[in-house]
Amino acid sequence: MIDIQHHGATTGVTGSCHELNVGHDGVLIDCGLFQGQEEGRDANADNLTIDFPIDHIRALIVTHVHIDHVGRIPYLLAAGFEGPIICSEPSAIMLPEILEDALKIGFTRDRALIEQVLGLIRSRIVAVPYGQWHSVFDEGACALKVRLQRAGHILGSAYVECEARDGDIQERIVFSGDLGAPHAPLLPEPQPPEKTDRLVIESTYGDKDHEDRETRRYRLKAVLEHALEDGGTVLVPAFSIGRTQELLYEIESLIAEFGESSIEGELTWNNLEIVVDSPLAAEFTRIYDQLKPFWDEEAKDLVQQGRHPLSFDQLTVINDHKDHLEAVEYLAKTHRPCVVLAGSGMCAGGRVVNYLKAMLGDKRNDVLFVGYQAAGTSGRDILTYGPRGGWVELDGERYDIRARIHQVGGYSAHAGQSDLVRFVEGISQPPSEIRIVHGDRAAKLALKNKFQGIGLMGIMIP
Ligand SMILES: [Zn+2]
Repeated sequence: MIDIQHHGATTGVTGSCHELNVGHDGVLIDCGLFQGQEEGRDANADNLTIDFPIDHIRALIVTHVHIDHVGRIPYLLAAGFEGPIICSEPSAIMLPEILEDALKIGFTRDRALIEQVLGLIRSRIVAVPYGQWHSVFDEGACALKVRLQRAGHILGSAYVECEARDGDIQERIVFSGDLGAPHAPLLPEPQPPEKTDRLVIESTYGDKDHEDRETRRYRLKAVLEHALEDGGTVLVPAFSIGRTQELLYEIESLIAEFGESSIEGELTWNNLEIVVDSPLAAEFTRIYDQLKPFWDEEAKDLVQQGRHPLSFDQLTVINDHKDHLEAVEYLAKTHRPCVVLAGSGMCAGGRVVNYLKAMLGDKRNDVLFVGYQAAGTSGRDILTYGPRGGWVELDGERYDIRARIHQVGGYSAHAGQSDLVRFVEGISQPPSEIRIVHGDRAAKLALKNKFQGIGLMGIMIP
């Protein structure tokens, strides 16, 4: 018997966790945290526990290190999971970093305990190079091997090809993880697998296409110029991994192209200040910068030309909490034109909340959303009610929204509908079953219709 179960990301885009069973043994693909109100749960302690049997789980395979794919790993270990954590080489470097942060926020402040958990996680990580088969188990009638392929979503992201055998039954199953959009900055686009019998595919943008890269880049430029006209801060809530680096990459390219052109009066692209106010985002930017071999050709070319797409002169990083508080106060008071990137990406916590509290009330400030905002998050509320002059509740208090709200889609690091269709159409031996996960209901239905429209069969929404 070879079967698939889902323990998350079936009624939304968070809490990804899928189980593949081969005979009596199984593996998990991702073990992520729930965010917002998805799955009818909040990310509080009682929803973090692993509420399914894991005695037979032989390994965890991590598609990428976003918290909605790896955030429950400490709880998996606490539940007694003893197997390896299999992931790509860049993910192996990034996973302890992201979990250290998650542990500090949601688990304990006890340094020794954190170190102990991280030590345990490090000892379990097995880094597997892209494109190589790795045997997970091969005993008696049952065997499973996996191969990671580049998913183009964030650094280290992978889709997982599984080759499973139980007696006479042999099956190839692909888990997409999160797929990147083609022409995303920094990373090469995903190439479809040659074949699969079953496919579990994400659908975050199953009902939408993104703008093309150049349009989006110039829209970013226009939004920033417009936002900075009246001074004030442009606040960009951004995930620490992926989106922050993509945005920095694009902003550096705008600076390189428009250098001395005036944004407003004396302010030019060359002297526009960009602040990354997040130790975690800064740390991941450093890791991205180190792992240039995993960049795409375009980005490698820029480095050859002597450019520094992720560490340019106009960039300031704020690590210290004290410096962060000072920056919030200083910028709110002086209205000095500046672009601030801070997490969390959906305004569900983190330093961005302090900026929002200080800045939402002033119309000179602007908030620019560049990523998906899940239902129930403050980010979704600001995006929905902000343009109508509404309010948002932050830490139990109401804040009126007078700052202008903008959105530039596509820095989502997720494939759009056509990209997902192209990915599936590119599989030369198409799957006989497709399970659509990791999307809002509307997105999943739209993608299902699209797949059926091109003659694909066996489409399920679990
Ligand atoms: Zn992701």
